[in-house]
Amino acid sequence: MLFWHLGTTFLAVRYVFRDPAMDLRWVALGAILPDLIDKPIGSMLFNDFFGTHRLAAHAVIFPVLGMAVVISITQRGSGMRKGLIGLVIGVLFHLVLDGAWSDPEAFWWPLFGVTFPAVPDSAFWPLLQRMAGDPVVWMGEAAGIAYLLFVWRRHLSGPGEVGQALRSGRVPMTPRL
Ligand SMILES: [Zn+2]
Repeated sequence: MLFWHLGTTFLAVRYVFRDPAMDLRWVALGAILPDLIDKPIGSMLFNDFFGTHRLAAHAVIFPVLGMAVVISITQRGSGMRKGLIGLVIGVLFHLVLDGAWSDPEAFWWPLFGVTFPAVPDSAFWPLLQRMAGDPVVWMGEAAGIAYLLFVWRRHLSGPGEVGQALRSGRVPMTPRL
C-alpha cells in the first residue's frame, strides 16, 4: 500500500501543520519506512521465525525512540533536525493509517511480551495475494493517487515545477482564507 500511505500522509501533514517549508521528502520516507523495515524482515526473510510482517517498526516505541534520538543528536533549529522530525511524523502517520493500534500486543510491543503476535498469511506471496484481492487496498491506493494528482494539478502543473518540488521537497500551499 504505497500510494495510500504517501497520498494520505501528505494530505494529513499539509492540513495539520500547514508549513510550506516542510521537506516532504523526509515525510515520504517516514510514511513508508515501517514497511521498508518490517516487510523484508518479517515477510520475506524470516517469516518462519516471526510469523508476522509487523515487527518493531510498527510499534509505537519506534517513533517515540526515534524522536528521542533525533532531539538528542541534532541541533535545535538545524535543517537536519527539521528533516528528521518530518521523518518521525511520517512514521507516526504510517502507524495511524495501518490502524496499528487494532492489535495492541503488536502496537505496544514489548509491553505485553517480546514476541510479536503472528498474522496469518503474512509470508510474502500469500500476503501479496491477499492484498491484491482486497478491494479496500485498491480503494486506498486510488484515494492516495487521486490526492497526489490533485496536488500536481493544483500546484505543480507548470513547467519545471515537479522537478523543483523533487529537488526542494516543498510544494506550494494555498493560503487559508
Ligand atoms: Zn505498515
